[in-house]
Amino acid sequence: MEVEATVTKVCPYCKEEIKVDAVKCKHCGEFIYKDSCQIVEQSTKSYVGTLILCAFLGSLGIHRFYVGKIGTGILMLITFGGFGIWALIDFIIVACCHFKDKKGRDIKP
Ligand SMILES: [Zn+2]
Repeated sequence: MEVEATVTKVCPYCKEEIKVDAVKCKHCGEFIYKDSCQIVEQSTKSYVGTLILCAFLGSLGIHRFYVGKIGTGILMLITFGGFGIWALIDFIIVACCHFKDKKGRDIKP
């Protein structure tokens, strides 16, 4: 009897146990990609940088320019961050790690 000491994971297609480093499921033959395991890609933008920009220049929308959201950045600039309210909401969202860059990736520390 073969003893397997390897760590296993569950195939996203057939729910059978497979080796954690497997690239192809031995049960159903589907290829396993790392991104099929529901890993949310993290933004390359700096969390601390976004937070600082939002705290000091939030009413000018600078943090939105920084993450690539140019359209809403300009809107924020001409409304002075929604008279401060929008900037405050953004700051809370950034602080809670729920702020996303233009590609929809979370900005986290
Ligand atoms: Zn499978």
